[in-house]
Amino acid sequence: MSNLQKKTDVILIGAGVMSATLGSLLKELVPEWDIKVFEKLGSPGEESSNEWNNAGTGHAALCELNYTNEKADGSIDIDKAVKVNEQFQLSRQFWSFLVNKKMIRNPKDFIMPIPHMSLVQGERNVEFLKKRFEALSNNPLFQGMEYTENPEKLKEWVPLIMEGRTSNEPIAATKIDSGTDVNFGALTRLLFDHLKSKNVEVNYKHIVKDIKRNRDGLWELKIQNLDSGKTEYHTAKFVFIGGGGGSLPLLQKTGIPESKHIGGFPVSGLFMVCKNPEVVAQHHAKVYGKAKVGAPPMSVPHLDTRFIDNKKALLFGPFAGFTPKFLKTGSNFDLISSVKPNNILTMLAAGVKELSLTKYLIQQVLLSNEKRMEELRDFIPNAKTEDWEMVVAGQRVQVIKDTEAGRGTLQFGTEVVSSTDGSVAALLGASPGASTAVHVMLEVLEKCFPGQMKGWEPKIKEMIPSYGVSLVKNPELFKELHTSTAKSLELIEEEPVLVHTLDEKTNNGNL
Ligand SMILES: Cc1cc2nc3c(=O)[nH]c(=O)nc-3n(C[C@H](O)[C@H](O)[C@H](O)COP(=O)(O)OP(=O)(O)OC[C@H]3O[C@@H](n4cnc5c(N)ncnc54)[C@H](O)[C@@H]3O)c2cc1C
Repeated sequence: MSNLQKKTDVILIGAGVMSATLGSLLKELVPEWDIKVFEKLGSPGEESSNEWNNAGTGHAALCELNYTNEKADGSIDIDKAVKVNEQFQLSRQFWSFLVNKKMIRNPKDFIMPIPHMSLVQGERNVEFLKKRFEALSNNPLFQGMEYTENPEKLKEWVPLIMEGRTSNEPIAATKIDSGTDVNFGALTRLLFDHLKSKNVEVNYKHIVKDIKRNRDGLWELKIQNLDSGKTEYHTAKFVFIGGGGGSLPLLQKTGIPESKHIGGFPVSGLFMVCKNPEVVAQHHAKVYGKAKVGAPPMSVPHLDTRFIDNKKALLFGPFAGFTPKFLKTGSNFDLISSVKPNNILTMLAAGVKELSLTKYLIQQVLLSNEKRMEELRDFIPNAKTEDWEMVVAGQRVQVIKDTEAGRGTLQFGTEVVSSTDGSVAALLGASPGASTAVHVMLEVLEKCFPGQMKGWEPKIKEMIPSYGVSLVKNPELFKELHTSTAKSLELIEEEPVLVHTLDEKTNNGNL
């Protein structure tokens, strides 16, 4: 054991898409700052950001029905959809900036155009979808959305879903061609290659064990080098805890008042994947349905075309599950160790309140493969068991905290928790997730560097022109940026010439 003591300006914990994004922003804003990254695994983007661990939807609220709730008067509230869409535009702009400056190459390696669709069945749901379409299609951010109840049209849009469909229930769908499939794993790896070229020190197989504040105000991290077994101590003026599901325990170690009374609830997931070229060739969209009663919002079923390593596959899910681990590579003691005297009441209150979620998760865990196939057949009536296999998805840790809605309220969004002096920040939660990484990391900068933001603003606006501007109120700017980013990211909205399907060799072992 050796005690190495090293000083730096910034430490980023975790090599997922969030640290990658924050590091890339900071390197443009203050190139002279020294940045170090510590990641417990052997390479970047191996946890939630990995392409097989999430659904790869560029969430812009083009198809996710849970972003548009029906109000008591029957009208549709589109505020959340507008917000999520605007946030995704920030990501598009930053990625375009990086591509235009050749800091990352070949956008097709991480983002592909794919129509986003919502599909519902039953009179009540059809009525909802129609109202939602009317509310969104008048909005500049959702231009180009189409709606149909016509089965013939639907056969053109989603032949695989319509084939063998015998139900007489009304059915309807919306479709918008400007959706995207994002390979967040590839994006993370590209960003880390870029960071390394900018002299960011990235340390893999280094696990952060403890964080405490020194008398001089610096944060001291106790880190174990997993290869050598040695313990190192590194200090930094600013620490970002981008540990994904592992962020909550690290935040708790800081002891900052903002880390108290917060708990985490892990929800795991499973996807079904199809690589049969004949089946894959019959579907070209991300199709989101409606969540089952009692299901949490992240369990909305969807059938997605995915592009991974320039090959196409179909993915269906997610099926929710439960394990006490906070990371896929975590420990069975994660949940219990996160219960502290300061959050035990919050956690217990959530346990009592969320009985329907618990019941839902138990039902999901107990689903047999044939039952999962039945759910898939709601989407693809002729689905054959032999064409589909299970993939274990990433872990999400939902935030539990005391809010105006009461003690122990389960949150489904993403939360930045930071100290009042801005010297440490953590990202908790997982939704809308990687799609809005740029927005969330800008929030980290605003919270932690309020004094510098004014000086940084011109550079931020060069990278992300709509920063601080409402696109919905500036439709001309939206149009201009949407067109220019589509060009930079090569999002030509037509069927790409990709005919291969995934084979076993390209799978990274998560199946
Ligand atoms: C099933 C599922 C589906 C999803 N679908 C989508 C989607 O369609 N679209 C979308 O935009 N988002 C989606 N998301 C969310 C998205 O994947 C996450 O928001 C995003 O990847 C989180 O990135 P991150 O960098 O915070 O975490 P991660 O990618 O999990 O990275 C955290 C890293 O920190 C490391 N780490 C943790 N603890 C330590 C420690 N103590 N020391 C050192 N290293 C540590 C981990 O090993 C890991 O590499 C989905 C998530 C899940 C689980």
